Amino acid sequence: MSDLISRMPEVRGKLLPDAELAPFTWFRVGGAADVLFLPEDADDLADFLRALPLDIPVTVLGAASNVIVRDGGIEGVVVRLTPAFGKVRVNQSQVIAGSAALDARVSQTAARFGLSGMEFFSGVPGTIGGALRMNAGCYDRETADVLIEATALTRKGQWVTLSNRDFGYSYRHSEAPEEMIFIEAVFQGTPDKPEAVRERIEALKARREEAQPIRDKTGGSTFANPDPPGTPDQRKCWKLIDEAGMRGARRGGAQVSEKHCNFLINTGDATAADIEGLGEDVRAKVKETSGVDLRWEIKRIGRAG
Ligand SMILES: Cc1cc2nc3c(=O)[nH]c(=O)nc-3n(C[C@H](O)[C@H](O)[C@H](O)COP(=O)(O)OP(=O)(O)OC[C@H]3O[C@@H](n4cnc5c(N)ncnc54)[C@H](O)[C@@H]3O)c2cc1C
Repeated sequence: MSDLISRMPEVRGKLLPDAELAPFTWFRVGGAADVLFLPEDADDLADFLRALPLDIPVTVLGAASNVIVRDGGIEGVVVRLTPAFGKVRVNQSQVIAGSAALDARVSQTAARFGLSGMEFFSGVPGTIGGALRMNAGCYDRETADVLIEATALTRKGQWVTLSNRDFGYSYRHSEAPEEMIFIEAVFQGTPDKPEAVRERIEALKARREEAQPIRDKTGGSTFANPDPPGTPDQRKCWKLIDEAGMRGARRGGAQVSEKHCNFLINTGDATAADIEGLGEDVRAKVKETSGVDLRWEIKRIGRAG
């Protein structure tokens, strides 16, 4: 891929050819990025995007807690946002967070300043960029409930501001153009006692610890529930998968979690193909037993091995 690196514009950050991505992903699988870009700051990223030939694809990763990077790696440039993109500050009842900030930090900051509404972020192990893209949420609260607006860069390096409505949110899904790189978001909090907010965060973390395999190499919920929260008799993926007899099912080094069967785990030596293939086995079995077509929540990106 050395010819691709020669087509890269001048930057202040780092450009790394053939950079392994697996160590950064929660699943710990996948191939290399043709080029990995670690921008120094938002202006560096904007200048880079403006100068990068448009035929070169760009993919952004946050904490990689909701992706399977395929074994053949990712074509073009992968952008990983550096700590310069992770600042969090508070303005009256609003929390303003850089897109590389961990969701948990946003909820902790809100608690410190006596703002409620963002407790659910402490249950999501990704970054704000990933939360904006995925409409991340848990226990009946989601990003769409608290987002006011976000700034982003287009593939051509132009700054844009998106309102909550522009994201076209639905359950774990956004209609915002795939090419956009989110840079910063503004969230609305509601004044409350810091101790009360902290207590709710602790309760939520305890509930999650009990129900999810959060210490495994996993990618979170594999499939989106077919019905959004609040639907009467909501169909849940874990139940459909359990009823299809797939709890604990294996393919290579991949396994359907025994603890929560909407989670796939890498038991140690799985490839991305094992994990994705097992996900397809689950989808086929659920279709056969219940007629439901499960929609992947986990993003699968890159080239097959
Ligand atoms: C143990 C575990 C538990 C989980 N529990 C939950 C849960 O309760 N609720 C929930 O909603 N999710 C959950 N997840 C999934 C995951 O944490 C969320 O989807 C999270 O929002 C993904 O953020 P990320 O930074 O890891 O994004 P990544 O996985 O890196 O990327 C996900 C998508 O977002 C895009 N993206 C990332 N950053 C940006 C950016 N700056 N600009 C534009 N696009 C961007 C990527 O291109 C990709 O398409 C869980 C995951 C794990 C491993």
